[in-house]
Amino acid sequence: MPISENINYYNKILTEYSAQLIAVSKTKPIEDLLQAYDAGQRAFGENKVQELTNKHEALPKDIQWHMIGHLQRNKVKYIAPFVHLIHAVDSPRLLKEIDKQAAKNNRVISCLLQIHIAQEETKFGFVEDELLNFLESEELKALQHIKVVGLMGMATNTENIQQIENEFRSLKSLFDKIHAEVSLENVSMQELSMGMTSDYEIACKTGSTMVRIGSAIFGPRNYTQN
Ligand SMILES: *Cc1c(COP(=O)(O)O)cnc(C)c1O
Repeated sequence: MPISENINYYNKILTEYSAQLIAVSKTKPIEDLLQAYDAGQRAFGENKVQELTNKHEALPKDIQWHMIGHLQRNKVKYIAPFVHLIHAVDSPRLLKEIDKQAAKNNRVISCLLQIHIAQEETKFGFVEDELLNFLESEELKALQHIKVVGLMGMATNTENIQQIENEFRSLKSLFDKIHAEVSLENVSMQELSMGMTSDYEIACKTGSTMVRIGSAIFGPRNYTQN
């Protein structure tokens, strides 16, 4: 299917769930992104800083760029001037660096805290207790150039649908708990980023507000990433 039809297809489905489509364009050439853009897509996700900044420079300026991958502190400065939302903030130190670079750019940068919900060792993120402690810390209160607008998580890469559903449900209940119990100026639980090509339906049924879909829209990745 052409990219434009895929964009229309997923936007239609996700609208029914009141979730937003983040078109994950990593490894894909500018022409592919333009096809999606011409079909009306404005939210794109990338997972490498260099690729994100290159594409930002090459493409129309009304695109909202989502950094969805693991972010190193020394690279925050390159995306701070323009990034729309950083999905995978996995440590207080990273959030502080984003705050610092946002201040330099006179911006408030929206962030999601990544929560470790999968059973795999390789996925980054806060564990629940760590997160709850951080949300009570003076450290967080002091940050005036970031806004924590929600949570992000990745389920285990498994065929076991029940396990994926359980992991998404646990993330949703943590989201609801923070929404109900935490009241801080710079924290506002609005977005729950969960679901990708293989598990977006489960994610939508369990409360996702942002789904990150790549290969189902653009086809298999053009080169392998780490
Ligand atoms: C690549 C990637 C996706 C999209 O994966 P698909 O399976 O191609 O939909 C979603 N989220 C993150 C964090 C990614 O790195």
